[in-house]
Amino acid sequence: MLLNTPPEFQPGIACPADLASETLCFVWRDDMVLVRAAASPAMPTFADLMRLGLDGARHYLGRYHGIDCITLRVPTDAPEPEGWQWRGLRSLFLQVPDPLLALAGRAFQIAEWDRSHQFCGRCGTPTRDKAGERGKECPTCGHVVYPRVSPAMMVLVTRGRELLLARASRFPSGMYSALAGFVEPGESIEDCIHREVREEVGVEVANLQYFASQSWAFPHSLMIAYTAEYAGGEMRPCEDEIADAQWFSIDALPRLPVPVSIARKLIDATVARLTAST
Ligand SMILES: [Zn+2]
Repeated sequence: MLLNTPPEFQPGIACPADLASETLCFVWRDDMVLVRAAASPAMPTFADLMRLGLDGARHYLGRYHGIDCITLRVPTDAPEPEGWQWRGLRSLFLQVPDPLLALAGRAFQIAEWDRSHQFCGRCGTPTRDKAGERGKECPTCGHVVYPRVSPAMMVLVTRGRELLLARASRFPSGMYSALAGFVEPGESIEDCIHREVREEVGVEVANLQYFASQSWAFPHSLMIAYTAEYAGGEMRPCEDEIADAQWFSIDALPRLPVPVSIARKLIDATVARLTAST
Protein backbone atom coordinates (compact mmCIF):
# COMPACT_ATOMS: atom_id res chain seq x y z
CA MET A 1 0.00 0.00 0.00
CA LEU A 2 1.38 3.41 -0.97
CA LEU A 3 2.99 5.29 1.94
CA ASN A 4 3.43 2.18 4.04
CA THR A 5 6.95 1.03 4.98
CA PRO A 6 8.86 -0.30 1.95
CA PRO A 7 10.12 -3.89 2.49
CA GLU A 8 13.70 -2.83 1.70
CA PHE A 9 13.70 -0.38 4.63
CA GLN A 10 15.08 -1.24 8.07
CA PRO A 11 14.07 1.36 10.66
CA GLY A 12 16.62 2.53 13.20
CA ILE A 13 17.18 5.28 15.77
CA ALA A 14 20.93 5.40 16.51
CA CYS A 15 22.66 7.61 13.96
CA PRO A 16 26.16 6.45 12.87
CA ALA A 17 28.88 8.84 14.05
CA ASP A 18 30.10 9.37 10.49
CA LEU A 19 27.44 9.66 7.83
CA ALA A 20 28.54 8.42 4.42
CA SER A 21 28.39 10.85 1.52
CA GLU A 22 25.59 8.82 -0.13
CA THR A 23 23.30 9.08 2.95
CA LEU A 24 19.78 9.92 1.78
CA CYS A 25 18.55 13.17 3.35
CA PHE A 26 14.94 14.29 3.76
CA VAL A 27 15.33 17.98 4.48
CA TRP A 28 12.33 19.98 5.72
CA ARG A 29 11.64 23.68 5.81
CA ASP A 30 8.36 23.65 7.74
CA ASP A 31 6.24 21.21 5.70
CA MET A 32 8.24 21.49 2.48
CA VAL A 33 10.88 18.96 1.45
CA LEU A 34 14.01 19.73 -0.55
CA VAL A 35 14.30 18.03 -3.95
CA ARG A 36 16.53 18.49 -6.96
CA ALA A 37 14.74 20.64 -9.54
CA ALA A 38 14.52 18.07 -12.33
CA ALA A 39 11.96 16.14 -14.37
CA SER A 40 12.21 13.36 -11.78
CA PRO A 41 12.79 15.10 -8.42
CA ALA A 42 15.32 13.40 -6.13
CA MET A 43 16.23 13.86 -2.48
CA PRO A 44 19.72 15.21 -1.68
CA THR A 45 22.55 13.07 -0.37
CA PHE A 46 24.66 14.02 2.62
CA ALA A 47 27.37 15.20 0.19
CA ASP A 48 24.80 17.56 -1.41
CA LEU A 49 23.91 18.94 2.02
CA MET A 50 27.53 19.65 2.87
CA ARG A 51 27.98 21.39 -0.47
CA LEU A 52 24.81 23.45 0.09
CA GLY A 53 25.81 24.30 3.66
CA LEU A 54 22.47 23.08 5.09
CA ASP A 55 22.21 21.76 8.63
CA GLY A 56 19.66 21.62 11.43
CA ALA A 57 17.87 19.24 13.80
CA ARG A 58 18.76 15.72 12.62
CA HIS A 59 17.02 12.42 13.26
CA TYR A 60 18.13 9.06 11.96
CA LEU A 61 15.47 7.05 10.11
CA GLY A 62 17.14 3.75 9.23
CA ARG A 63 18.60 2.08 6.14
CA TYR A 64 17.03 1.78 2.71
CA HIS A 65 18.76 -0.77 0.45
CA GLY A 66 21.66 -0.53 2.92
CA ILE A 67 21.93 3.27 2.62
CA ASP A 68 21.49 5.39 5.74
CA CYS A 69 18.55 7.80 5.73
CA ILE A 70 18.12 10.88 7.90
CA THR A 71 15.54 13.60 8.31
CA LEU A 72 16.76 17.12 8.92
CA ARG A 73 14.82 20.26 9.78
CA VAL A 74 16.22 23.62 8.68
CA PRO A 75 15.03 27.08 9.80
CA THR A 76 11.87 28.57 8.27
CA ASP A 77 13.92 31.27 6.56
CA ALA A 78 16.38 28.84 4.90
CA PRO A 79 16.81 29.91 1.24
CA GLU A 80 16.01 27.79 -1.81
CA PRO A 81 19.41 26.73 -3.18
CA GLU A 82 20.07 27.14 -6.91
CA GLY A 83 18.95 23.98 -8.75
CA TRP A 84 16.77 22.78 -5.84
CA GLN A 85 13.14 23.25 -4.84
CA TRP A 86 11.10 23.19 -1.64
CA ARG A 87 8.07 21.04 -2.42
CA GLY A 88 4.94 19.94 -0.53
CA LEU A 89 4.76 16.19 0.01
CA ARG A 90 1.47 15.83 -1.88
CA SER A 91 3.03 17.41 -4.98
CA LEU A 92 5.50 14.49 -5.15
CA PHE A 93 2.82 11.79 -5.58
CA LEU A 94 3.54 9.87 -8.81
CA GLN A 95 6.70 12.01 -9.33
CA VAL A 96 9.08 10.11 -7.07
CA PRO A 97 9.13 6.30 -6.72
CA ASP A 98 6.59 4.98 -4.18
CA PRO A 99 9.20 3.72 -1.66
CA LEU A 100 10.86 7.14 -1.54
CA LEU A 101 7.49 8.84 -1.14
CA ALA A 102 6.73 6.48 1.77
CA LEU A 103 10.07 7.28 3.40
CA ALA A 104 9.41 10.99 2.89
CA GLY A 105 6.05 10.53 4.66
CA ARG A 106 7.81 8.85 7.57
CA ALA A 107 10.53 11.53 7.62
CA PHE A 108 7.93 14.31 7.55
CA GLN A 109 6.11 12.94 10.60
CA ILE A 110 9.36 12.81 12.57
CA ALA A 111 10.41 16.30 11.48
CA GLU A 112 6.95 17.62 12.40
CA TRP A 113 7.17 15.98 15.80
CA ASP A 114 10.59 17.59 16.31
CA ARG A 115 9.25 20.99 15.26
CA SER A 116 6.12 20.77 17.45
CA HIS A 117 7.80 19.59 20.67
CA GLN A 118 10.67 21.98 21.17
CA PHE A 119 9.17 22.84 24.57
CA CYS A 120 7.55 20.69 27.20
CA GLY A 121 3.76 20.84 26.84
CA ARG A 122 3.40 20.39 30.59
CA CYS A 123 5.86 22.94 32.05
CA GLY A 124 7.32 24.90 29.10
CA THR A 125 10.98 23.91 29.57
CA PRO A 126 13.00 23.32 26.34
CA THR A 127 13.00 19.57 25.60
CA ARG A 128 15.93 17.36 24.59
CA ASP A 129 16.15 14.18 22.53
CA LYS A 130 15.91 11.09 24.71
CA ALA A 131 18.80 8.65 24.43
CA GLY A 132 18.05 5.21 23.00
CA GLU A 133 14.51 5.87 21.74
CA ARG A 134 12.52 8.22 19.55
CA GLY A 135 11.34 10.51 22.32
CA LYS A 136 11.65 14.11 23.50
CA GLU A 137 12.17 14.49 27.18
CA CYS A 138 11.70 17.42 29.55
CA PRO A 139 14.78 17.83 31.81
CA THR A 140 12.65 19.59 34.47
CA CYS A 141 9.52 17.49 34.91
CA GLY A 142 10.45 14.30 33.02
CA HIS A 143 7.50 14.46 30.62
CA VAL A 144 8.28 12.44 27.45
CA VAL A 145 6.63 12.93 24.07
CA TYR A 146 6.78 10.37 21.26
CA PRO A 147 5.87 10.97 17.61
CA ARG A 148 2.11 11.16 17.41
CA VAL A 149 0.08 8.77 15.25
CA SER A 150 -3.66 9.45 15.06
CA PRO A 151 -5.81 6.45 14.17
CA ALA A 152 -8.74 7.09 11.88
CA MET A 153 -11.29 4.67 10.53
CA MET A 154 -12.60 4.37 7.00
CA VAL A 155 -15.67 2.28 6.30
CA LEU A 156 -17.45 1.26 3.13
CA VAL A 157 -21.05 0.34 3.93
CA THR A 158 -22.79 -2.09 1.58
CA ARG A 159 -26.50 -2.91 1.09
CA GLY A 160 -26.86 -5.76 -1.37
CA ARG A 161 -25.21 -4.52 -4.57
CA GLU A 162 -25.17 -0.91 -3.37
CA LEU A 163 -22.41 1.13 -1.73
CA LEU A 164 -22.94 4.02 0.66
CA LEU A 165 -20.71 6.81 -0.63
CA ALA A 166 -20.55 10.38 0.60
CA ARG A 167 -18.88 13.60 -0.39
CA ALA A 168 -17.47 16.33 1.82
CA SER A 169 -17.62 19.85 0.43
CA ARG A 170 -13.79 19.94 0.30
CA PHE A 171 -13.74 16.99 -2.18
CA PRO A 172 -13.08 17.59 -5.88
CA SER A 173 -16.29 18.26 -7.79
CA GLY A 174 -18.55 15.20 -8.09
CA MET A 175 -16.24 12.88 -6.16
CA TYR A 176 -17.67 10.45 -3.60
CA SER A 177 -15.83 8.20 -1.17
CA ALA A 178 -16.21 5.91 1.82
CA LEU A 179 -16.94 7.43 5.24
CA ALA A 180 -14.01 8.28 7.50
CA GLY A 181 -13.36 9.83 10.89
CA PHE A 182 -10.89 10.03 13.76
CA VAL A 183 -10.98 7.70 16.72
CA GLU A 184 -11.89 9.44 19.97
CA PRO A 185 -10.33 8.72 23.37
CA GLY A 186 -11.90 5.62 24.89
CA GLU A 187 -13.07 4.15 21.58
CA SER A 188 -12.10 0.99 19.73
CA ILE A 189 -11.97 1.23 15.94
CA GLU A 190 -15.29 -0.62 15.89
CA ASP A 191 -16.86 1.85 18.37
CA CYS A 192 -15.65 4.67 16.17
CA ILE A 193 -17.16 3.11 13.02
CA HIS A 194 -20.59 2.71 14.64
CA ARG A 195 -20.52 6.27 16.03
CA GLU A 196 -19.24 7.97 12.87
CA VAL A 197 -21.66 6.18 10.55
CA ARG A 198 -24.53 7.08 12.88
CA GLU A 199 -23.38 10.71 13.17
CA GLU A 200 -22.54 11.27 9.52
CA VAL A 201 -25.42 9.51 7.77
CA GLY A 202 -27.78 8.26 10.50
CA VAL A 203 -27.67 4.54 9.70
CA GLU A 204 -26.70 1.44 11.70
CA VAL A 205 -24.14 -1.10 10.49
CA ALA A 206 -23.18 -4.69 11.30
CA ASN A 207 -20.66 -7.37 10.23
CA LEU A 208 -17.58 -5.16 10.32
CA GLN A 209 -14.69 -6.67 8.36
CA TYR A 210 -11.11 -5.40 8.48
CA PHE A 211 -9.70 -4.55 5.04
CA ALA A 212 -6.26 -2.87 5.33
CA SER A 213 -4.45 0.06 6.90
CA GLN A 214 -2.34 2.85 5.46
CA SER A 215 0.00 5.39 6.96
CA TRP A 216 -1.14 8.85 5.92
CA ALA A 217 1.33 11.63 6.69
CA PHE A 218 -1.16 14.52 6.55
CA PRO A 219 -0.12 15.19 9.18
CA HIS A 220 0.13 11.93 11.18
CA SER A 221 -2.79 9.58 10.56
CA LEU A 222 -3.07 5.85 10.42
CA MET A 223 -6.07 5.07 8.24
CA ILE A 224 -7.71 1.75 9.18
CA ALA A 225 -10.22 0.56 6.59
CA TYR A 226 -13.21 -1.73 7.03
CA THR A 227 -16.30 -2.85 5.21
CA ALA A 228 -19.66 -3.08 6.98
CA GLU A 229 -23.18 -4.11 6.07
CA TYR A 230 -26.21 -1.87 6.38
CA ALA A 231 -28.31 -2.91 9.36
CA GLY A 232 -31.09 -0.31 9.51
CA GLY A 233 -32.10 3.32 9.67
CA GLU A 234 -33.02 6.01 7.16
CA MET A 235 -30.14 7.86 5.55
CA ARG A 236 -29.91 11.42 6.93
CA PRO A 237 -26.56 13.07 5.97
CA CYS A 238 -25.21 15.37 8.67
CA GLU A 239 -25.16 18.83 7.11
CA ASP A 240 -22.08 19.99 9.02
CA GLU A 241 -19.84 17.21 7.73
CA ILE A 242 -21.37 15.75 4.58
CA ALA A 243 -22.35 17.65 1.42
CA ASP A 244 -24.20 14.60 0.04
CA ALA A 245 -24.47 10.86 0.65
CA GLN A 246 -26.23 8.28 -1.52
CA TRP A 247 -26.60 4.56 -2.14
CA PHE A 248 -24.91 3.84 -5.45
CA SER A 249 -25.34 0.63 -7.44
CA ILE A 250 -21.96 -0.96 -8.17
CA ASP A 251 -22.98 -0.70 -11.85
CA ALA A 252 -23.40 3.09 -11.70
CA LEU A 253 -20.70 4.53 -9.49
CA PRO A 254 -19.84 8.24 -9.32
CA ARG A 255 -16.38 9.77 -9.66
CA LEU A 256 -14.14 7.98 -7.13
CA PRO A 257 -10.85 8.85 -5.32
CA VAL A 258 -7.55 8.31 -7.17
CA PRO A 259 -6.37 4.68 -7.55
CA VAL A 260 -3.38 5.08 -5.17
CA SER A 261 -5.64 5.87 -2.20
CA ILE A 262 -6.77 3.28 0.32
CA ALA A 263 -10.33 4.54 -0.23
CA ARG A 264 -10.19 3.53 -3.87
CA LYS A 265 -8.59 0.15 -3.11
CA LEU A 266 -11.37 -0.49 -0.58
CA ILE A 267 -14.07 0.45 -3.10
CA ASP A 268 -12.49 -1.54 -5.97
CA ALA A 269 -12.04 -4.67 -3.84
CA THR A 270 -15.61 -4.47 -2.57
CA VAL A 271 -17.05 -3.99 -6.07
CA ALA A 272 -15.03 -7.01 -7.26
CA ARG A 273 -16.31 -9.10 -4.34
CA LEU A 274 -19.97 -8.10 -4.86
CA THR A 275 -19.68 -8.65 -8.60
CA ALA A 276 -18.27 -12.14 -8.10
CA SER A 277 -20.97 -13.10 -5.58
CA THR A 278 -23.97 -12.28 -7.78
ZN1 LIG B 1 8.31 19.66 31.68
